[in-house]
Amino acid sequence: RLLLIMGTSEVLLLLMAFILARANMIPITRALRQQRRFVADAAHEFKTPMTVIQNKLETMLEHPNDSVMDQVENVANSLTEVRHLNKLTADMLKLAQADAEVVMFDFQPTDLVKISKEVSEILEVQFNEKQQILNLEMPDELIIEGDAQRLRQLILNLVDNAHKYTDSKTVITVQLRKLRNIARIKIIDNGEGISTEDKKHLFDRFYRVDKSRSRASGGHGLGLSIVQWIVEGHGGKISVEDTVPHGTTFDIVLPLRHRKQPDK
Ligand code: ADP
Repeated sequence: RLLLIMGTSEVLLLLMAFILARANMIPITRALRQQRRFVADAAHEFKTPMTVIQNKLETMLEHPNDSVMDQVENVANSLTEVRHLNKLTADMLKLAQADAEVVMFDFQPTDLVKISKEVSEILEVQFNEKQQILNLEMPDELIIEGDAQRLRQLILNLVDNAHKYTDSKTVITVQLRKLRNIARIKIIDNGEGISTEDKKHLFDRFYRVDKSRSRASGGHGLGLSIVQWIVEGHGGKISVEDTVPHGTTFDIVLPLRHRKQPDK
């Protein structure tokens, strides 16, 4: 009876859904659900900074005679939020390109030691501010076939996290080792650590253990998703362990030589 009151298009849709389900194509619905969740989470991430900027601008318009100091403070707060939005947009763009598989990695002989030193220079000011030490344990050079720009981003994201989620006056170690045909990178901190439950979701988009702490340090929960994409793009693996007695260690293995993927 149901079929009788449905139009031809509905019947066709029902038939397609049935065929898809039979053909074991259920993951499509999961992908759609993930996509919807991504959009909802992204909208949520945009909302807070947008609201702050709107409030600040409205205050400035409504109180044109406020002191210059107050005006400057409003502009400075708005600028912080604009920077946050800029980083969020750039990270979302990277992941969108990753999903669409439009970005090709540029595989060239790349020295992981040189890249680690560059990251150390980029983060020097932040490390000094928290009186943290970045300890580089590495050989003179470690060359792999990889995309230098992406590998720099990978190490930067992990070292930056170690810096953000670890107390002042601590040591963070980047360890590089060459083992037969792989390079092993470890980023070791003695910070607050990550619970077993949180570890399961760590690489999910927008996932943050402590939202307010992450936001306060300019995070939005996309850094580790990008890290995972870069590791997989190089045919490697990433895992996360506890540091003894406390803290977190990210362990990455990357093949020294890039194996070209067969055309799909
Ligand atoms: P965010 O931009 O929030 O730092 P990430 O994707 O890089 O996003 O990390 C996701 C979450 O994982 C962080 O919000 C933080 O709660 C947790 N995290 C990441 N690295 C560490 C670490 N080294 N120590 C403790 N927690 C961490």
